[in-house]
Amino acid sequence: MKTLTCKDLGGKCGEKLSAGSWDEVVTVMTKHVMENHPDVAQQMEAMHNEDPKRWSRENKPKWDAAPESSTV
Ligand SMILES: [Zn+2]
Repeated sequence: MKTLTCKDLGGKCGEKLSAGSWDEVVTVMTKHVMENHPDVAQQMEAMHNEDPKRWSRENKPKWDAAPESSTV
């Protein structure tokens, strides 16, 4: 289990997003921005249409660098 904030992942608030894998945090983050930051969701969608790998390339290193937490 690792935790990143919305801001870490290109969002705009300090909401903590926890997940057990990168794929899972992508799902959690996508849901979070769609519900809370429609403008960020639009930017992410535009970025994805332009280069589907770009968001992962920019943000996955932060996930990899985040400390693994054993407490849930
Ligand atoms: Zn947020």
